[in-house]
Amino acid sequence: MNLDLTWMPGLAAPFVYPSAGNPRVAVLQPGFRETRQVRYFASIDEEAAIRFAPEVLAGTAIQLRRIATRSRATTLRNAVVVFTWEGEPGLAEYDREMFWDVFGVPAFEQYLSRRNRLIASECDAHEGLHIRTSSARREGWIGDASPCACGDARPRLMPRPKLIAAGLKLCEQRP
Ligand SMILES: [Zn+2]
Repeated sequence: MNLDLTWMPGLAAPFVYPSAGNPRVAVLQPGFRETRQVRYFASIDEEAAIRFAPEVLAGTAIQLRRIATRSRATTLRNAVVVFTWEGEPGLAEYDREMFWDVFGVPAFEQYLSRRNRLIASECDAHEGLHIRTSSARREGWIGDASPCACGDARPRLMPRPKLIAAGLKLCEQRP
């Protein structure tokens, strides 16, 4: 079933900004609740999204990459938020670096359920994604409960190679 959640406001998920503040956010993905500060723009309306003068762009790595190659989102002040969904690979380091180079703001990955509910989100420390629900699970990801530099005590999902490279204590996340 191909369900466009933008037509069903009751089902739309809240967009959760990963840091303090209430910036103008252009969301390029349907299925998020719109507010005065958070607006949805279909991928085809890229021009309208730019005119909105967002301080934050939120979308998939592919959508953000497309805007980055044109380098016209010059109003960004805070962040780009990169959505990934259950079962998908996480944000690639080369994309993260490219977004930083082009937009001049950090990328924050958010791991979402199929209905755009936030399962885990990256913090200012950029060392894994803090788990925000009890249903967090991901192929190739593990939970790490060691203290995070940001002070958030919630355990984090981390890509396995990153954890091993850091020599941190591993604890498998039960599915
Ligand atoms: Zn943290």
